[in-house]
Parts: sequence; C-alpha cells; structure tokens
Amino acid sequence: MDYERLCQFYERLEETTKRLEMTDILVELLREADGDLRAVVYLTRGQLAADFEGIELGVAEKLVMRALHESTGVSEEDLTKAYHKAGDLGDAAFEVLSQRKARRRQASLFAEENQPQASMPVTEVFERFHEIARSAGAGSQSGKLSLLQKLLARASPREARYLVRTVTGKLRLGIADMTILDAMAAAFATKEYRPDLERAYNVCSDLGLVGETLLKGGLAAVEEMRAQVGVPMRAMLAERLPTPEEILAKMGGEGLCELKYDGLRLQAHIPAQGAIHFYSRRLEDLTRQFPDVAGYLRESFRGREAIVEGEVVAVDPQTGDMKPFQEVAKRRGRKNVEEVIAEVPVTLFLFDCLLLDGEDLTEKPLPERREALTRSFDLARGADEEGLERIQLSRAKRVTTPEEVVAFFEQSVAEGAEGIMVKSVGPDSFYKAGSRGYQWIKYKREYSSELQDSLDLVVVGAIAGRGRRAGWYGALIMASYNPEEDVFETICKLGTGFDDATLQAMTEELKSYQHEGGPHPRVRARIAADAWFAPVKVLEVVGAELTLSPLHTAGWGVLKEEAGLSVRFPRFTGKVRDDKKPEEATTLDEIISMFKQQGHKRVESAEES
Ligand code: ATP
Repeated sequence: MDYERLCQFYERLEETTKRLEMTDILVELLREADGDLRAVVYLTRGQLAADFEGIELGVAEKLVMRALHESTGVSEEDLTKAYHKAGDLGDAAFEVLSQRKARRRQASLFAEENQPQASMPVTEVFERFHEIARSAGAGSQSGKLSLLQKLLARASPREARYLVRTVTGKLRLGIADMTILDAMAAAFATKEYRPDLERAYNVCSDLGLVGETLLKGGLAAVEEMRAQVGVPMRAMLAERLPTPEEILAKMGGEGLCELKYDGLRLQAHIPAQGAIHFYSRRLEDLTRQFPDVAGYLRESFRGREAIVEGEVVAVDPQTGDMKPFQEVAKRRGRKNVEEVIAEVPVTLFLFDCLLLDGEDLTEKPLPERREALTRSFDLARGADEEGLERIQLSRAKRVTTPEEVVAFFEQSVAEGAEGIMVKSVGPDSFYKAGSRGYQWIKYKREYSSELQDSLDLVVVGAIAGRGRRAGWYGALIMASYNPEEDVFETICKLGTGFDDATLQAMTEELKSYQHEGGPHPRVRARIAADAWFAPVKVLEVVGAELTLSPLHTAGWGVLKEEAGLSVRFPRFTGKVRDDKKPEEATTLDEIISMFKQQGHKRVESAEES
C-alpha cells in the first residue's frame, strides 16, 4: 500500500466521529493493507510498535520546521506564520506544499520539474520513521533532520500533513483499540470471533501482532497466542461497591481481603536469564526507574521464570511505614537513578502470579496463584542492609462476614493504604487480563469527599486565570469517558486543589495538546472555555457528590432529559494519573452507577424541582 492511499483513509476517518462509520472505513483499510497490515495498525494508532516497546518518534516542532524549510525553500518565518494561522503544523505543511505544487504546475514548461512524484510505499515510510526514532545521542538532531527532509521532499501535501502529525506525536485519529479489534474481526473473520481476538490482545498487548497473526495463520493461530515472559499482559481491573454486605454477596459469601496499596502497579517479568522488566498499568516500560526492586526480586525469586504483579510503594526505610503515591511518583523521569533510590526507598507488595516456570496461571483460581507466589519467593533474601524486606506479599485475609471486612478496612487505612481490595476465591476466580469485573472489588472511603471513590478525569479545556492566576489557566474543564461512543463528556470545572506552581506547570504542558477552533472532535461540551485540548491528561479528582446539570454533557439525557451529570465541589487530589490513558478514565457507566449508589432520593428531588 502507498502512504498516499493510507492518508486518504486518515482523511475519511477524521471526517466522522461515529464509531460504526469508523469501523467500516477501518475494515476497508485493513483489507487493502494486506501484507502491510502490521505497519498500518501501528501507524494508525500514531505509533511505530506496540505501546510497551516504548519507541518514540518525539521530533520537536522546531526541527520539523527546519526540515520543511529545507525541503520546500519556504522561509522559517513564513512557515511560522502558516503554522499560527492553521493552528496545526500538519495543516501548515499541507498549505506550503500545496503552494509549491501550484508553482510547479505554473512552471510546467520545465519538463523535469513536472515529473510525477514517485509514490512512497507505507513500508518505506515506516522504516524511515524507525530510523528517525533510532537516531539518538550526539548528532542525532542533524540525522533526524536529514531523514525527515528527504521524506518531506518526496511527499504530496496530503502525505506531508500526516507525516508531520505522526513525527510530532499529534496524529490523533481518535480510534479506540476496541474499534480496531472490531474492524479486524469484521475484515478477516466474523464478528463472533471478536472475543478471541480480544483475548489474544489482552495477553500480548500488541494489536499489530494480533492482526498479523490473524492474517497469516487464521483464527487457529490467534487462539494459540499465550502469555510469555517479556511480553506484558493487559492488567486486570476492579469494580467498586458501596458496602461490605454487597461485596460479600457478590463474592458468594467469601473473599480475600488485601490492602489497596497507594503506589504504582508493576507487572514484573522475570526471565530465566537476563534482565527483569517492569511494566506499568498502561504497559509503559518502567524498568529503569526500579533497578533496586529488580535486584531484590532476583535475590528472592526461587523459580526459573515468572510474570508477577504487585504495587510498588514508597516506604520509610527506618520504620517500613508506607508513604503516599506522590512519593513513589518522584521516581518518574529522574535521570540520576542512584540518587533517587536513596531518596525514595520502595517496597514491592506482590499480589498475583500470572505465569510460573512456563505454566500460564491466568486460568487458575486466585488461591492457587497466591500459593504459587508464596512458594516461589524467599522474602528474607530480598531484604536490604537494615533487614527491611523490600519484596513482600500483599497482606491478605480470608473473610466471610461484613464485620471482618470492616475491621480489615480500618486496619488497612491506619497502615496507610487507600482502602482494600476484596477478591473472589471461587473456582472461576481467574486472572482476567484487560477487563474490569466483580472478581476484584475495591472498597475505599474518601474521607475528604462524600463520594464513595475518587474519579479519574481527562482535561479537555481550560478557563483563563484571573487576579493572582492571570497568565495561566485558573480552572480546567474535566471530562469522563463514554466508551460506547468513544467520546469524552464534560463533568466539571476544576480549580481547587492546585498550588500555583502546579497550575503554572500544567498551563505550559497543556499548550502542546491545544486544539484550535473549539472542542476537540472527541470532546462533547456545552460550556464555553478559553482553550480546548486533545484528551490526553488524566487527573484524580474527588468531590462532594454527583448532581444533575444542564451545563455538562456526561450522560446527557440518560437520567433526565436535557441534563447531564456533574461533580459538585470537585478538588484535585494532587495525583496526576500518567499511568492511565484517557480511555482508562472513569467511564460514564461508572459515573451513573455511583450516582445511583448515592441514593435514589436525589434523582427524585431533582426531578421534582
Ligand atoms: P484507582 O484509581 O482506584 O487506583 P484504578 O482505576 O487505577 O483505580 P482499579 O482497577 O480501580 O484501578 O484498582 C486497581 C488498582 O489498585 C491496581 O491497578 C493497582 O495499582 C492498585 N492496587 C493496590 N493494591 C492492590 C492489590 N492488593 N491488588 C490489586 N491491585 C491493587
């Protein structure tokens, strides 16, 4: 397939926000891509490989401007003007290349200039992108520049638009992974096989690989795909319920209570030989942040190879007391690892074992997986010089009564946990990769909020600050996620809980996600804002309650005509959820069920008013 052809599909995808239409266009695209399928899948997600490979193009806009200048002869000043006018560097590239084309057409007497440009196959563009991503270190800028310049010199205006958006990380076609899976099933199998594809995706976290396997080996090959050390699995997630009675009822009267640790989830891949790798909840490779944990794990592990999961928490090295999430988050992005190891000591609390010595344990009940953890770690060997065990198993207790749940909860909160997780122990208590279900139920009490849980909301817009906050944003417009329609719907204005420095830094960062000319196509809003953003950044928010609101679009018309839902008295908790993709924000269904759990009275009183 030619890159030009791929870009034509991108244009069509951008013209619609309807999931069904997108799926139809994707089906056509995937079929036409044929042998280039894997590259096409990655490129359409704006990437060069699966998420966990961490291959970033990361070309700065300035460098793209220079490449555009060198390949078109247009001055950087004129390019900057075109950029400001268009509000998007890809659109600016489209403009200047269209002008170049028009000039060439006028000068068509010069036969050699009038030669049709040779088309660029997708595979070639893909390979050049990889070269750009690989060129790092000294002299990398000039290497990147020359690669990019060569691509742009051959590009049509349309190709230039998407080349530029891709290399700057701004190709946001707004296609959810689940839509790509729907399209793959429809393109190469039938809809009934959609769950098989999803299972394969959940164990390998690589849509490109699933597509290629399906194309080459058919469904039988997809069914053969299994968990492997070194290939991260998509995380299993928890539901929430408001009372211990309801939790136990859902679990059939018995469950395993564990502390809900306030740290970062790590999926540790321990190979028979070679380096241990860690992946975050959104499958980013966090290996470099935790070399100390890798060392302690190696020391304490008694098996041959494994995939285990746990929560890494900052601890006080003297007392072993746990510290809040903000502490362990300090390890992110720090270059001097040795320094940060000493500054933020951590302990890994293991809670699951997904694979042990070649055996996939995900379809074994939880007690068996827990037993596998117990027998394959010698925790004393993972102790530091002071004797503090840096690898521990999550503290857990089997419970059968609500009183036991409450007692465990209170004890856990006193120890510094966010709350508890209650996990099913029944014969089908499997590890369900990539899904949120009632096999795991979280029970938290936000003391600072009357809402039963915090919400993870996406920044989609902002209001300019006034007074002391003039020059930065004074409040952010936050949205929840509606997976049915794959859109973000506003739910509150958030201006509380930030210190000035945070707001200032946030203002700077948000600029790179700015979307000109109104809300981003994936955002549904009814309120006015001074700036709109692509839905990227996820923040944790607490609030007093959920109320019906004519201003916000979350769940518009679901509970009441001409009204959506909003969070009353929202406050930022200080947690930036960089470990969550926007599609992992709190969903509309969760919001509606939290609203209902507040008691039906409110709906009635709101309806009367
Ligand atoms: P929250 O915002 O409440 O942390 P979440 O949306 O990130 O929730 P959930 O599925 O709701 O994810 O809660 C599970 C998260 O809790 C896990 O991703 C993990 O990071 C953390 N966690 C802490 N302790 C445990 C435990 N004992 N078992 C499983 N997960 C735990």
